[in-house]
Amino acid sequence: MKPVTVPFFISHQGCPHTCVFCDQRTISGADGILPTAEQIRDRISLWRTTAAERPLEVAFFGGTFTALSEDTQSALLDPLQPFLRNGTIAAVRISTRPDYLDAGRVRWLSQRGVRTIEVGVQSMDNAVLAASGRGHTAEDSVHAIQCITSGGLKAGAQLMPGLPGDSPESSLSSLEQVISAGADFLRIYPTVVLRGTALARSYAVGEFTPLSTERGISLCALLLQRAMRSGIPVIRIGLQADAGLDADSILAGCWHPALGQLVRSRLYADLIRRVVPDGTGATLYCHPARLSDVIGMKRDSMKSHAGAVARVLPDAALAPEEVKVETQAMTVTYSIITDLNYSIHEV
Ligand code: SF4
Repeated sequence: MKPVTVPFFISHQGCPHTCVFCDQRTISGADGILPTAEQIRDRISLWRTTAAERPLEVAFFGGTFTALSEDTQSALLDPLQPFLRNGTIAAVRISTRPDYLDAGRVRWLSQRGVRTIEVGVQSMDNAVLAASGRGHTAEDSVHAIQCITSGGLKAGAQLMPGLPGDSPESSLSSLEQVISAGADFLRIYPTVVLRGTALARSYAVGEFTPLSTERGISLCALLLQRAMRSGIPVIRIGLQADAGLDADSILAGCWHPALGQLVRSRLYADLIRRVVPDGTGATLYCHPARLSDVIGMKRDSMKSHAGAVARVLPDAALAPEEVKVETQAMTVTYSIITDLNYSIHEV
């Protein structure tokens, strides 16, 4: 059963860096105050009552968990221990920077119930990391991922296509390198320009050109498909829409509240465009969970080329990545993983 996440945003706490794109207060919608033991206990009890039988996973998002003092890390993890012992919560997840992690810290976290560590890799190109003020290297990220996985924990890698100095080739290489390093899952957050950041100042004077939403969707579709080919889940595409992230705080860049759906829809639309000629009037079948992705927002996929698709129907026998195309002459099943060959030059 998929766990229910009990989120705590620790917003910029513990982080001595100022990455050019970062305004943690805006991204998390939190004010940077750490939760007290009582607040942690209360929230877990509240979520326990609403999660029915599903297991709970506590997640500390944002900031840099392992850059907090050990006392502070303990103050956040200690209130969880009774809940872990009595089975109220199943696991703990944290996120941190790659240069604040070693085998000893992974062991320490593991002994306190942490089962997943997400690493803010952002890019595996050292020139991009330097231009973005990250203060760590690609080698730090490989080391961090390997410490996590050899410590028996799950490693997540967060990537940010579109940073200063980045290119589609570099983004794709970053994705391939974190997969090779052993990442178990990915999050892809295309770069956005937030008000009040160093990136906003570079953007204002024309020194930085962000990815447009359209180009970002094309790039993310390519990245998602490469991850799918490697069997690595991408659990999130695009920053979460919340009260702190809106048209006022986002000055430019690739952002949409349903970016993940737009990217998945792009994969199906590109496949359909390649295998179904205009005017065919085909009936498409897809996995029920993928119906809205295949149809696309505002039925974009069906309208994108004239008369190719007459209707889209669910078929639970199909895999999520498959689409069955039925015409008067034939019925063929295609896959967005194996039957769609993107070139980096299309981005
Ligand atoms: S390391 Fe994370 S929290 Fe710190 S400035 Fe960079 S993005 Fe923000």
